[in-house]
Amino acid sequence: MGCPGDIVHIANWNMPQGVGRHTNGGNYDDGLYDPVNFRGGAENLKAMIRQIHDDGSLVSLYTIATYLPRASKLGREIGEKVCQIGGNGKPVADATCFFPCLDAWQDCYIAALLKAQRELNADVIYLDCYPFGKWSNACYSKEHGHEVPLNLNRAQHRLLAKLRAKLPSHVAIWGEDPCMDYDCDLMSGNITYYYTTIHEHRARSYDIDDAANRDFYRPLQNIQRYTMPQIKQFGFPCGWVPSGPVVNEVNALFFNGEGTYDCGFMLFDSHYRARLRHWLQIQRALPDCFTSSAPKPLAATAAGEIYANEFSGNNQTAWTLWNGRFSTYRGPVLRVPHVEGAHYYDAWNATPVTLERDGADDILSVAEMAPQGLGCIVQYFGPLPEGLPKESVMESVK
Ligand SMILES: [Zn+2]
Repeated sequence: MGCPGDIVHIANWNMPQGVGRHTNGGNYDDGLYDPVNFRGGAENLKAMIRQIHDDGSLVSLYTIATYLPRASKLGREIGEKVCQIGGNGKPVADATCFFPCLDAWQDCYIAALLKAQRELNADVIYLDCYPFGKWSNACYSKEHGHEVPLNLNRAQHRLLAKLRAKLPSHVAIWGEDPCMDYDCDLMSGNITYYYTTIHEHRARSYDIDDAANRDFYRPLQNIQRYTMPQIKQFGFPCGWVPSGPVVNEVNALFFNGEGTYDCGFMLFDSHYRARLRHWLQIQRALPDCFTSSAPKPLAATAAGEIYANEFSGNNQTAWTLWNGRFSTYRGPVLRVPHVEGAHYYDAWNATPVTLERDGADDILSVAEMAPQGLGCIVQYFGPLPEGLPKESVMESVK
């Protein structure tokens, strides 16, 4: 993609010989998450991580707190004790999936993560399925020491708080879904799926008419991106599902200034990857803008069905643009107060912005936005920020 990954996320590293993939490589069949369970041996795993660090990327370890096969060593030891108990007082049928409501289980899991982080020098710990509760989450056990029925939000917060307190402060924690607001001081980020409206693998579709009945294609927004900007969002388009590679809906990740979980061909088809490469280049050139603590959603624009989000950085500002029309757009997109010395660059089309003074304002126009397409305007002072695209997307495809 023309740039190194910021983070290399390692899954399936805890998979001792003889264990299948049925639990995402996240099971505890050999007791605990332990580097010795890496199929290639702990020393090879450590060497690989050193190489990743030498190449300038960070390392994230996949873990999951909610899988514990009954047949596993730990499952045999404490499985029944940690099992979710239904309202009828019996273990939930066929459960290989346990909610971490038991303190003993939480402490066991946390001890394993601390050891793995320490031995592997990992920078990030990933908690798959966090926050939990995708299924019925009430536990009625009177043996677990929690209220009956369980308040899952409280139980998982306790797990997270203990882990955060014990991990070195430079180690980030991220999870699979948006966290509760009262978890947000403890989390660094999460995967997000809000834009995957083409299928319902992760989220229900937006209630929108068929395209034939729609006049416009309004932007897909992620409210957490703006209400908790310190929690970094990484879009994962779930391309492995039969619906296949993604369409324009992933444009939302650029429009909302979010990270991308993966750039592989199973997630982004070849046609789209040129666009993805282009937006990654823009994001990497303006890190202070896209990590801003005060991103502004749906800033005012100068044209109907043209939408903008505003990301102010260190003496520079990026506006990401979304064309809600089913037609190409050329013309004014933003009206901003005139600022002496400010320059404007159309980073999407890789060309200076056409600027027209109107009283106290400047009106900024783009050369072109494709139907349902993206755009980006950068306000800067002095020389053009390094690293921004010098070619438009179509030229990059050649
Ligand atoms: Zn319980």
